Amino acid sequence: MKKKITIITFLLAVCALAWMPEIQAQAKEPVIVVIDPGHGGEENRGGEVLPHYVEKNLTLQVAQAMKQTLEQFEGVEVYLTRTTDQELSLEQRAQIAKAYHADFLFSLHFNMSAEHNLYGTEVWTSAFGKYYSAGQTFGRLQLAEMSQYGLYNKGVKTRLNSRGTDYYGVIRASRALDLPCVIIEHCYMDHPIDSPQANTPQKLANFGVSDAIAVAKYFHLKSPSLGLDFSNYQYSKVPAPAGGVAVPDSTPPENVNMVITNADLNTGKVDISLSASDPQSGMLYYSYSIDGGITWSVLTPWAGGNTIQFSITVPGGSQPIIMCRAYNGYDYHTDSNFAVPGVFAAR
Ligand SMILES: [Zn+2]
Repeated sequence: MKKKITIITFLLAVCALAWMPEIQAQAKEPVIVVIDPGHGGEENRGGEVLPHYVEKNLTLQVAQAMKQTLEQFEGVEVYLTRTTDQELSLEQRAQIAKAYHADFLFSLHFNMSAEHNLYGTEVWTSAFGKYYSAGQTFGRLQLAEMSQYGLYNKGVKTRLNSRGTDYYGVIRASRALDLPCVIIEHCYMDHPIDSPQANTPQKLANFGVSDAIAVAKYFHLKSPSLGLDFSNYQYSKVPAPAGGVAVPDSTPPENVNMVITNADLNTGKVDISLSASDPQSGMLYYSYSIDGGITWSVLTPWAGGNTIQFSITVPGGSQPIIMCRAYNGYDYHTDSNFAVPGVFAAR
């Protein structure tokens, strides 16, 4: 019996010696990235601004360029949830990614707004713990890449449904499978400030390259063929939210107040000081109306702290009713007081 144990011990030792160096020499596990071209199929076309913008097609074009770029980096495997115009549920997208043992799921989208007035680039992620941390950290790298196109940075945000879980299905399903996920809303297809950024195959491919670079930075990848090395790329990791949940903003801006600091009745120039605050999501845009809120100007980025100054020109011969509208990081708005500065001389 003792001899048998000794032989087994000896064999185990030989095995261990034979195995150990091999384990040590083994390459690091590859990063597994799954890209989800949003929407797909006849029923789920996504947003549409015809004839040029059909979201399901744009997302697939961006995804293919993103994959091609990422595959030029070392130590990464890249898969798509769909490679054709195919219908997939949000749960299936997360399940496909999980089946590939994904480290991260990137769901690609293009935006539209109900009033066709919003523009900019934004990222959505889970509100919870390590999923929030991963999504926020990656999202900031992503938005930094998108800044080269001059797109307005609307931030990385969370959204909850009435049950208190993540609102967006692909994010909710991914978290349920222990998988970090972001939705990248590249830009708005229905706004003239953004739409020219996505109107050629080359520009869509450029978005895909930028998405890939953000992923490469996040995972510290390098590509000798592209001459890019992010293995020592420094970025700050956003911590998990205090209390475990990053509760989204659900209220419009507060303390919205407009003061007309000067009105030149001859030239039509009106100087405005507009104040507003939003402790949860900050201020994003403002607009103004000269007809008491019937029609509104194009949104302008809110550049400043709680008070901004700007000037507008009103038509000659009019008696405008001026008011402002202030938008927060979640696109919720509050209207200001109004003012009637007087009758402007005909010009
Ligand atoms: Zn979409």
